[in-house]
Amino acid sequence: MAETESPLVAFLTGLIRSPQNQEVPPELSAVEGLEPLCQALLDLKDVLASFSKGDFSKKYRQTGSLAGYVKALQSNIRHLAWQCVAVADGDLTQQVDFMGELSEAFNRMTASLAAKHEEIQQKQEQLTELTRNLQQEIKKKEEIADALRASEEMYRERSLHDPMTGLYNRAYFFESAAREMDSIKRQTSGRACIVMMDIDHFKRFNDTYGHICGDAVIKLVASSVSGILRKSDIFARYGGEEFVIFLANANLETGSAIAERIRATVEAQPSPAPGGQAPVTISVGLCSLTNAGVDSSANCDQILMNALAAADAALYQAKDSGRNRVCVAAKASL
Ligand code: GH3
Ligand code: MG
Ligand code: MG
Repeated sequence: MAETESPLVAFLTGLIRSPQNQEVPPELSAVEGLEPLCQALLDLKDVLASFSKGDFSKKYRQTGSLAGYVKALQSNIRHLAWQCVAVADGDLTQQVDFMGELSEAFNRMTASLAAKHEEIQQKQEQLTELTRNLQQEIKKKEEIADALRASEEMYRERSLHDPMTGLYNRAYFFESAAREMDSIKRQTSGRACIVMMDIDHFKRFNDTYGHICGDAVIKLVASSVSGILRKSDIFARYGGEEFVIFLANANLETGSAIAERIRATVEAQPSPAPGGQAPVTISVGLCSLTNAGVDSSANCDQILMNALAAADAALYQAKDSGRNRVCVAAKASL
């Protein structure tokens, strides 16, 4: 202790400097007002100690300007903490104007965050727009691909069918019947029938009732015969008023029965001629095939051509023997 220092100054200095709280010494107990001053200093020390540890919740019970400064600091810091939470929750409009250097730092931080946020939002909008464009582009491409597939399918279908009757055309018949023939050739007891049919006296019909009425006859024969065939049969317009049928897995007996049924069905149809006159009839030639004795390496196209020629010969025989009948090819296996 310095020589000139009074016991009162020494006590107050110790009170401020020492980390422990000190009681008023007995020799100073008579000093008036020392007790409340001492309490005010201890309260201030206590609240500042809490602030230094980050706890701004402690209440400072004193009054006066010093108390006012402590309370202002306390409320400013607590308000700033609340604003930081608001920023964390996404409110980037928060501004501080009561904390000098700290205000400036806080405001720069929120301004920079707001600018970055704006930038991210713009980028996000651009990305959304790009994604939308890309999706539209993909959709357009898919629509084009679908249309292309549909049109390819339509052209393929058209290329296989006869437009007037909707039956398969001759080209498709050769392709699919040769395929069937190949499969039948490999079976242990493979068999099939080829039916050729031709409308009787069709030239005369056309000459008498006109070509439009003649077309109706061709369509009528196509639809009535289609109605009695199985799904596995290949029915095609061979050309003009001639038709051909590939009956898979049909032996001579079945093939003959089907051919007769076809002939009878056409004959029973009401004629498209005015008043139903001039009944429509067909002549039918049948060729029955089995794979007995057929070399499995035999050419299917050739087998098919031979069978068609045999069925055609039987058809001519039906024409020659009076028409409106079924004739079976003499040679029943190839
Ligand atoms: P057959 O009993 O011997 O078969 O005598 P046909 O008169 O039927 O035979 P022909 O081969 O002499 O005549 C076939 C006729 O079929 C000639 C042709 O004008 C006609 N024709 C071919 N295609 C069509 C067609 O698409 N529509 C129409 N209306 N007539 C056709
Ligand atoms: Mg003909
Ligand atoms: Mg004819």
